[in-house]
Amino acid sequence: MKAVYINELGGTDVLTHGDRPEPEISPGEVLLRVHASALNHLDLNLRASNCRRFPHILGCDLAGEVVQISPDAGTDLKVGDRVLVDNRVKCGGINLCEHCASGNDQWCARQQRIGVDRDGGHADYVVAPAINAYTIPDAMPFTEAAALPIAAHTAWHCLITQAQLQPWDDVLVQAAGSGVGSMGIQIAKMMGCRVITTAGSDWKLDEAKKLGADAVINYRETASISQAVREMTDGKGVDVVFDCVGADVWEENMLCLKPQGRLVITGVTSGSRSSIDLSILQGRPLHLIGSGGRSRRSMADVMKMVNQGALHGIVGRTFPMAGVAEAHQAMHDRDFFGKLVIEH
Ligand SMILES: [Zn+2]
Repeated sequence: MKAVYINELGGTDVLTHGDRPEPEISPGEVLLRVHASALNHLDLNLRASNCRRFPHILGCDLAGEVVQISPDAGTDLKVGDRVLVDNRVKCGGINLCEHCASGNDQWCARQQRIGVDRDGGHADYVVAPAINAYTIPDAMPFTEAAALPIAAHTAWHCLITQAQLQPWDDVLVQAAGSGVGSMGIQIAKMMGCRVITTAGSDWKLDEAKKLGADAVINYRETASISQAVREMTDGKGVDVVFDCVGADVWEENMLCLKPQGRLVITGVTSGSRSSIDLSILQGRPLHLIGSGGRSRRSMADVMKMVNQGALHGIVGRTFPMAGVAEAHQAMHDRDFFGKLVIEH
C-alpha cells in the first residue's frame, strides 16, 4: 500500500511517500481504508526529534471506511461503515491496568497512540481497536471527519471535563486559528458562553466570528491582550482562559482572569518555559488547570454532539498524499484556519 513514512529524524525531506506492507488485524481490531488524515503539531515534533520507531507511518487523525472486522471484536460496526478514529489505544478485554479497571482510562498505564507508538493514518490502510472507531454522519465528508478527533476531543476535555464550563462563563480562547482553538470556540458557544478570541491576522478573526466568537483581538495590533479583555468585560476579566500557545502568553492569561477564574492549558507551541510573577497568585485566587490524557467517555460525548450536527471539523487546507511535506511546511508557517487535511 502507499503511505507517508519516515526512516530517520530530520526536515521535511525525510517524509517518504512510498510502499509499505498492508497491516493485518489483531484480536479486537478493525481494518480501515483511510480516506482522509489530518496533521497535528505533534507530527512535526515526531519527524524532527521525537520519533522512536522506524520506519514509522505518521498521521494521528484519520477517517475512513471499515473493510475488515476481527471475529472477536464484539462490535456493532459493519463492513462499509464510515468512521473516524480516536488515536489513543488503551487496555481492552478483561486484562485492565489499575486506571482502566477503576474507570479512569484517561490515565491508562499501557496507552499507545496511533501515529506515534503505532503506524498512523497517512496510509491506504490502518488497523485500530474496534472500540476506537466511531461512526460519523452520512453526509459528513471524510476530510471534515479527519479534522475532528484530536482537536475536538482536546478542546472538550479541557473546557468541559477540566474547566467545567458553565453557560454563564465568559471565555477567552487563545489562537482562534489553531485546531483546538477553533474547536474551543464552537464548544464554548455550544454551551452558551460569551467567547472572546485572539489571532494574529484579521482574516482569521473573521473566520472566528463565523464560528460564533462574540469579540476578537488581533494580538499583533494590541499592546496588551489582558487590557483588551478587561475593556471588553467592563473591567472584570473572564471566567475561563483556554490556551494552547504556552510561554508567550502565560502571564497575560493570568491577568485576563476574574477572581476564581480558571486557566486551562493544553499546548505549548510558543515554548514551555516561563517564569511566573507569583504576586499575581498572591493577590488573586486563580485555578491553574492541566490537560493530560482524555477518556473514552468524553470522546463518546464529543461524538454524540458531532452526530447531532452541533460540532463541525474545520478544514483549513487540503493536500494530496504526495503533498505531506508541503503540509508540514504550512503547519510550521501557521497561515491557515482549522486543520490541514490529507486527502487519500
Ligand atoms: Zn489501561
